[in-house]
Amino acid sequence: MNLRVDLPDLSATDALGARLARALQAPLVIGLIGDLGAGKTALVRALIQSLPTYTLIESYELGALLVHHLDLYRLRHPEELTELGLADVLGPESVMLIEWPDKGGEETPTLDLAIHLFRLGDDARRAEFDARTEAGRRFCERVAR
Ligand code: ADP
Ligand code: MG
Repeated sequence: MNLRVDLPDLSATDALGARLARALQAPLVIGLIGDLGAGKTALVRALIQSLPTYTLIESYELGALLVHHLDLYRLRHPEELTELGLADVLGPESVMLIEWPDKGGEETPTLDLAIHLFRLGDDARRAEFDARTEAGRRFCERVAR
């Protein structure tokens, strides 16, 4: 079947992106064809931005480090962390940055350091470091130098 959608302005393209996102089912390969400036990237962005971005863990290989960013805000049960197999993730070259660590309960690895962030105003924030292990203290000392 063929479908034609008029896109009078960018918000129409945004709306189409959201419609496409709701209809997506993998596996699927979509090509976008059109001149420079036709709106291919705008449509893809609209599609992507309308999808939920939440992931429990994002891992990055940064030089010699494996950096894992966990956001536990929407964790419903600590058992969801068990399923991730964090023990295997925490290798000798790994660094973990965990938002809302308390939500993981006993499943959250021991924190070497807690950084408390406080909102002081529109743009002003304060960071307070609370080292809890020897590794955390050594890290704080390197930061403070
Ligand atoms: P392409 O990837 O096809 O080269 P882009 O998406 O990068 O094109 O660029 C499209 C440009 O046109 C953007 O600057 C966007 O803001 C503008 N634009 C204006 N109206 C629309 C519309 N209805 N749909 C998509 N883009 C639009
Ligand atoms: Mg493009």
